[in-house]
Amino acid sequence: MFDKILIANRGEIALRVLRACKELGIATVAVHSTADADAMHVRLADESVCIGPPASKDSYLNIPALLAACEITGADAVHPGYGFLSENARFAEILAEHNLGFIGPKAEHIRLMGDKIEAKKTAKRLGIPVVPGSDGAVGPDDDAMAIAQSIGFPVLVKAASGGGGRGMKVANTADDLLLALSTAGAEAKAAFGDASVYLEKYLQKPRHIEIQVLGDGRGGAIHLGERDCSLQRRHQKIWEEGPSPALDARARAKIGETVAKAMREMQYLGVGTVEFLYEDGEFYFIEMNTRIQVEHPVTEMITGIDLVLEQIRIAAGGDLPVTQDQISINGHAIECRINAENPETFRPSPGKIRQYHPPGGLGVRIDSAVYQGYVIPPYYDSLVGKLIVHGKTRAECLMRLRRALDEMVVDGIETTLPLFRALVRNHDIIDGDYHIHWLEQYLATAKSEAK
Ligand code: ADP
Repeated sequence: MFDKILIANRGEIALRVLRACKELGIATVAVHSTADADAMHVRLADESVCIGPPASKDSYLNIPALLAACEITGADAVHPGYGFLSENARFAEILAEHNLGFIGPKAEHIRLMGDKIEAKKTAKRLGIPVVPGSDGAVGPDDDAMAIAQSIGFPVLVKAASGGGGRGMKVANTADDLLLALSTAGAEAKAAFGDASVYLEKYLQKPRHIEIQVLGDGRGGAIHLGERDCSLQRRHQKIWEEGPSPALDARARAKIGETVAKAMREMQYLGVGTVEFLYEDGEFYFIEMNTRIQVEHPVTEMITGIDLVLEQIRIAAGGDLPVTQDQISINGHAIECRINAENPETFRPSPGKIRQYHPPGGLGVRIDSAVYQGYVIPPYYDSLVGKLIVHGKTRAECLMRLRRALDEMVVDGIETTLPLFRALVRNHDIIDGDYHIHWLEQYLATAKSEAK
């Protein structure tokens, strides 16, 4: 097992990792930018190192500074959290070259899944169903129009190295296609340094359903059921739940087993998520995330398995905690990502939290790094915290979530709490009847009614 872990992240996920380390009896090192000197992860870690100025590229993404922090503190492994360097294969290799552990998958798998075109080819080869689309990148010499016509409009132009919903453009008709190709390519070039794009059938009313996996890197892998993350704004998830209101036990076992089998074949190591769109009873692979995800607590609440703790144990050479048949899905969990944003315009609202009262009670969990008097800096994401609620049934979970949302107080900044209070009372949401475009349509209607 590791003796001392450096957490190369900030905010709630840094705290989440810290908690797992404490339970395992592992010493912790927090790193922080000058803007985060007062952050909770710095206060709770055994040691901390300032690694640079506020801009992420100079601090949380600064590999030499992170290596120096490991050297100074004697850390023997790094946990990257999510975002930042968590899906940077080169970072994983550099750590290995310095005899430092990386709490994540093998570098080759990060690289493979980071290239969406290669990822899709691999998924297909491993028997995972994929969205119909172009065979690979669509270059200037390819007849994009012919490919799009063979897929059928509307098509989605996607960046090969895309992420966070960027570099994606819909073309509804042949006329839209050229513009979509050039704007998606330019956006991808600016954001990821790679302009290559590919085409996919644009699904009209799918749900986003993802399968959580855990692999031991030696050919053993299990799945821990699904999360339904269909409530999205600009391709960003805001509400995640499990189990999905759209799946039954048979469908869950079938897709879960397909994915677990693929992971065994790959000899995948650690936690991962295989993401699908789900429409008319069919699953279509879109990507795989080779890291812990923001919404991992949903799975923890319904399986009782501590994913971050297991991730650390497995990275240190440990075995899978349970066998597939020992896993059972217990009740229902919902996570709301509460952001420091105006609930109507979604404009970020950084600043000082004057009053903070997190809700409590049976089945209520808050993963957050804020406290009363904390100033949310303007440099990073605007997450205030995640409210995760568990119930024996979906109805009980909703009832408890309604109560918890009403109880929560975050004053001094604007938050998206009012949006969640409305959503948890909405009939489509109560019925579980929503898809990936539902939230955008709901917000557009709310806006026009306000006029
Ligand atoms: P990113 O890595 O940028 O998050 P994904 O491939 O995971 O990109 O897609 C993010 C979201 O975009 C999905 O959850 C879904 O809402 C939408 N999306 C992706 N592919 C398609 C598709 N073929 N049809 C419709 N929506 C899609």
